[in-house]
Amino acid sequence: MSLPAARKMSSTESVYLVEVVKGLVMTMTHIVKNLFDQDRFRTVEYPDVRKTMTDRYRGAHRLLLRPDGKIKCVACMCCPTICPAKCITIIAGEDPNDPAEKFPVEFDIDMLRCIFCGFCVEACPKDAIRMDTRIYEINAYTRQAMIHNKSYMVNLMDGIKPPAEEFYRLNPDSAPAGFTPDEPSATGSP
Ligand code: SF4
Ligand code: SF4
Repeated sequence: MSLPAARKMSSTESVYLVEVVKGLVMTMTHIVKNLFDQDRFRTVEYPDVRKTMTDRYRGAHRLLLRPDGKIKCVACMCCPTICPAKCITIIAGEDPNDPAEKFPVEFDIDMLRCIFCGFCVEACPKDAIRMDTRIYEINAYTRQAMIHNKSYMVNLMDGIKPPAEEFYRLNPDSAPAGFTPDEPSATGSP
């Protein structure tokens, strides 16, 4: 298949200086407009200002607890099975008080591999895992610290990211769904 012929440039386009001047005029126009109309600024002055993500935004995962304080997850292995990135690792254990019940002794998600597809949330039959935190600050200094473990995902934001925690404390409307600074930390064990 032959490629379409290249469009022929007009005489003014072939003199690149004209196009350069046009570009500069456009840039200057936006600069002047922005100076007099601050609402036009799209830049979020992070970290002093944090963007509030929509409810549908897939942020950092959190693990939910039952009303009795036990972790909701029953280690059914649906989420690690469906995860296309194979980044969920669960070690299952039996509840000593009820051998019919299982729970995750360990529950790790390697956030460096996660592609935020949300399949784990969709697959969970127990509504035990959600990505509704709106947390997009998923960063660390080491690869190991990018593996979010059970404790981290249960006690989300609890003292692990102090600057963000302080911001959300002052701006509760922007706080992620899992952020409960005034409540004692839950252990998440059965
Ligand atoms: S969001 Fe997708 S890639 Fe990330 S842990 Fe869940 S299933 Fe795996
Ligand atoms: S989080 Fe949900 S899908 Fe994943 S192992 Fe636990 S109960 Fe199963």
